[in-house]
Amino acid sequence: MSSKFYSARWIVPITSPVVKDGCVEVADELIVAVHAEAPADVQVVELGDIALLPGLINAHTHLEFSNLQAPLGEPAASFDQWIAEVVKYRRAQAEDAAVRIQDVVHAGLVESANSAVVAVGEITTNGELADCYLFSNTKVISLLEVINFSRDEIENKTAEVESYLHALKCQGLSAGISPHAPYTVSWQQLTDLCRLSEQYRVPCVMHLAETKEEGELLARRKGVLRDMLDRLGMWEDAAIPEAVSYLDYVELLATSWRALIVHGNYLSSEVQQFLGTKRDQLAVCFCPRTHAWFGHDRYPLEEMLNHRVRICLGTDSRASNPDLSLISEIQYVAQQYSDLTSFQILKMVTSNAAFALGLESQLGFIGPGAFSRLLSVPIQAGESLETQLLDCLSAAELVSL
Ligand SMILES: [Zn+2]
Repeated sequence: MSSKFYSARWIVPITSPVVKDGCVEVADELIVAVHAEAPADVQVVELGDIALLPGLINAHTHLEFSNLQAPLGEPAASFDQWIAEVVKYRRAQAEDAAVRIQDVVHAGLVESANSAVVAVGEITTNGELADCYLFSNTKVISLLEVINFSRDEIENKTAEVESYLHALKCQGLSAGISPHAPYTVSWQQLTDLCRLSEQYRVPCVMHLAETKEEGELLARRKGVLRDMLDRLGMWEDAAIPEAVSYLDYVELLATSWRALIVHGNYLSSEVQQFLGTKRDQLAVCFCPRTHAWFGHDRYPLEEMLNHRVRICLGTDSRASNPDLSLISEIQYVAQQYSDLTSFQILKMVTSNAAFALGLESQLGFIGPGAFSRLLSVPIQAGESLETQLLDCLSAAELVSL
């Protein structure tokens, strides 16, 4: 198929310098090249005063909560109370015959696309969603959640994940693994899942260092999370090694093919430094408005960036966020962390997220091989790109070139 050419006031490829008044060459829905100026003797579609960006990637969400009208519980409530609300909500949803999980996930995918999102790192507890993924314009990396503290269940759970990876691959879909968190997945189970991630070359995504309560459980095997596990009859002494640290968990995750640590709200400088040295394998997902909903200590974003940690952004779910707008997350970060440049923030929702989810050859950049479903951002002529880019994102729309 012959190439088509599109010119725009600005092209923001993310992984290479910004091009002013450049031209994008597209064939078969893939980018062929970015030209500094349009080649002679070709017909060019003029897109005008816009900036072209890669479509955005929401690195972390749970779409099965997408029909919630407001987050669960109260702002800044204790974490174990919030988990109790989640468990209650899941039960009610499972018993409500009028609710089809496929419809809920579909609604979340539509909402994501309305916020310029072309791909999501989606944690799922349901193996029946392939049709939702197949018929969506939004690329889904479906990460099967694993919760297991019992030694007797490890083999079964690992086999379940393995068959999920097979099933999705057979349908041409992208899958991965999500060991939920240190307080719900045993060390031994996690070891097995990291091995599976390496074997199948799929991402491994785990919530880690989200709350002070989690830190207390690991350090002293006590606190509200221990009480919760006791109440649920889930606690097993061997599930969490004695005196285990976040660094130990991160080192174990580094045995995966690629791992994304979700939250990391309370990671020490030592762990951040380690993550920076492993940025070609490990990334961290900051969920800004969810972080605010729980009232955590200020997120160490600047510190993480100083350590060269690969940071992504995620909305998390509507159980802890009023909506799934990744653009709102971007604008919130720009407001709260005003020393960061627009380009630093945009990297988090494009190339960094693509890498973390194993999509870096197709998404998260504008260059040869990338999909041509791009973000068109209206820009005021004459004003600098940097000063207006993030504000103008609210008026952005996805275009398929
Ligand atoms: Zn989450």
